[in-house]
Amino acid sequence: MLKFCQKRGRVFPSGGRGRRRRDLLRFKTGLGMRLRRGVCVTGVCQVTGRVRLLAGAHRLLSFNYCLPVLQFKNMATHSLETRFARWCAALWWLGAFFLGFADIPVSADETVLVGVASADITPDYPVRLSGYGGRRTEHVGVAQRIGLQALAMGPDSRGLAVLVTIDNCSVPGALRAEVLRRVREAGVLLADERFAIAFSHTHCAPMLEGALENLFGMDIPEDHRERIHRYTEDVTRWMTDAVLKAVRLREPSFLASGFGRVGFAANRRSFPDKPVDHDVPVLRVTDLGGRLRVVLAGYACHCTTIGIDAIHGDWAGCAREALERDFPGAVGMIAIGCGADQNPNPRRTMELVKQYGEDLAAEVGRVIRGEGMRSVPGAIACRAERIPLEYATLPTREEWNVLASKSGAVGYHARRNIARLERGETLPTALPYWIQTWSFGDALHMVFLPGEVTVDYGLRLKREFDRDRLWVNAYSNESACYIPSRRVLEEGGYEGGGAMVYYDRPTKFAWDVEERIIAAVRRLLPSSALRRDAAR
Ligand SMILES: [Zn+2]
Repeated sequence: MLKFCQKRGRVFPSGGRGRRRRDLLRFKTGLGMRLRRGVCVTGVCQVTGRVRLLAGAHRLLSFNYCLPVLQFKNMATHSLETRFARWCAALWWLGAFFLGFADIPVSADETVLVGVASADITPDYPVRLSGYGGRRTEHVGVAQRIGLQALAMGPDSRGLAVLVTIDNCSVPGALRAEVLRRVREAGVLLADERFAIAFSHTHCAPMLEGALENLFGMDIPEDHRERIHRYTEDVTRWMTDAVLKAVRLREPSFLASGFGRVGFAANRRSFPDKPVDHDVPVLRVTDLGGRLRVVLAGYACHCTTIGIDAIHGDWAGCAREALERDFPGAVGMIAIGCGADQNPNPRRTMELVKQYGEDLAAEVGRVIRGEGMRSVPGAIACRAERIPLEYATLPTREEWNVLASKSGAVGYHARRNIARLERGETLPTALPYWIQTWSFGDALHMVFLPGEVTVDYGLRLKREFDRDRLWVNAYSNESACYIPSRRVLEEGGYEGGGAMVYYDRPTKFAWDVEERIIAAVRRLLPSSALRRDAAR
């Protein structure tokens, strides 16, 4: 029998030299393809990332060399007759004689090693849910189970990239850092800029330690805090395990992207401008046999269809469930775009939350089956930069005193800051903001922005860059806070500054917040990602 070496990306005989033909017939490669009648088999070396064809002729396989020949376009079948395989083999041996067994890279961009893993993260103990400040009790029941999904892409030597999607309102940066630390401790080389977490912002998931700490406008009781701590630990462990499992399960796959549109998001602000972003970016992962493995979709809208005190993934959870029902065996993943000022409309019923999930899944299904899907290369260039987002002038001590007399989160926030000042601490004057971009060759560029990013950012980036190749994710990597555009900042209101107290930020942002973020994205993405007419 033969074995596919994951490390060297080659097939090696594991038995003696006298293997019989029927052994070869039973051979199933690490690629999940069965050798039939001496077919050729493709392989992707996990070290070099190169695509190779492995020898099909069993006599050649008695040597400890794989057979890099050509990449056949009909990757879905790989069925080549023995005679042709032998012709290829003969050609390779001739070439190898002159070239000294050099590896021949062939269209490595068209396949990428992809692994995926999911975990159920529904707690079996009571935990206070985040999302709505009026909650005073821990959750009551489970209306829908919640989960996380890890998507590992790329070979080790080229740099692995891992995206995690998770049903949660707000994930603190400390949790991401701890998962990354544990993943590295387990021996997986994963660079900071190559690890992204996209949280769904469902308002019916348990609170995580360090995110939205001021939401309830009061201290959280100690027993509630203990279980929030326990859940944070559990999620850290589940996420680490899922990332490691996804890395372990990588196998050659194809990526393709496309865009659809769904209309249930509406601008929720009572101000004159009412922009929306109804784009649905989609990433499809199929194996070499054409089987759907993963569907990742994005949409710029709050997960606030419902406000129940039971656990639920809101429309994102329903969309994932519908995708996994419609495509058995595939993993659904949902990321949220710049939907900070977007709500599902209408809302507040269980029928609507299901309907929105079905609407999104139906559109995603139409997109991935359609003609508009474009191949996406697996070489992912990841970049990141942490920039300071300056706050406006901080309140004076007198102003803090006035604020402290107010009720609810505003007063609570002011009293916490007064206590900090009395301890001799200095209040921050800027928010460190971590911007991350992933470029899949030049075919698709993803932007990851932390926090609740208002819709203007997504729309502006899609005007400045080529919108057919740009995918903007908000609610990424760190809890941050609301990120208003210049327009929203000037208009004021909840997203313009009022919500900063829930995130324990000292005051609203300075006027240049939008320009700082857009300039950083421009620095991180290649100029080829710009709109083609703008780039000229
Ligand atoms: Zn929100």
